[in-house]
Amino acid sequence: MNLVIFGPPGAGKGTQSIKLVKEFNLFQLSTGDLLREEVKKKSSFGNKIQDIMNSGALVPDEIINTLLEKKVSTPEYSNKIIFDGYPRNINQAKSLDDLLKKYNQKMSLALNLKVNNDILVKRIVGRLTCSVCNKTFNTFFDPPMTCEKPLCSSRELKKRLDDNEETISKRLKTYDEKTFPVIDYYVQKGIMKNVDGMQEIQSISEQLITIIRALRG
Ligand SMILES: [Zn+2]
Repeated sequence: MNLVIFGPPGAGKGTQSIKLVKEFNLFQLSTGDLLREEVKKKSSFGNKIQDIMNSGALVPDEIINTLLEKKVSTPEYSNKIIFDGYPRNINQAKSLDDLLKKYNQKMSLALNLKVNNDILVKRIVGRLTCSVCNKTFNTFFDPPMTCEKPLCSSRELKKRLDDNEETISKRLKTYDEKTFPVIDYYVQKGIMKNVDGMQEIQSISEQLITIIRALRG
């Protein structure tokens, strides 16, 4: 079955997608990867894409659809796709439905990792990394004085520069505003399942896997 996964930055969508790919033998399709793959081929189509990307313009939906069709029409991928980061708006969602229909497929499930933005901001803003062994801590949830990893005990924990509250709050707000209509589109179709994205990674995975298993029958 084909499915799509939604989740704001920091919610662990990437991690969960990888787990689902492994568990169910799926293919993860992200439009960013598709574009990079085509550019690498140095085909005339790839070069055209490269020019558009270099100009800083958005890649037109028409091009994305052409790339998506190549995958959707491949028998190996048939009914085994997990869409990640796409569709981003209702028009894309509709044309993706049309495309799947053309190849006798459909979108069977939309997963939404729901998070509390305030907690997510703390998760990201509070992130500290040990400068020696790269273990991560959190000033709010897991406050360490020194790295307590065996044989490490470094006293220097560093912060990523882009992890500041204002930037992250803005990113989350933009995400919510942009994604709401497309999430609603799948809610209306009756295939949306919300999962609490604030739990441990492992229990989120278990819930996602249970939902997919139930649908597959
Ligand atoms: Zn350490």
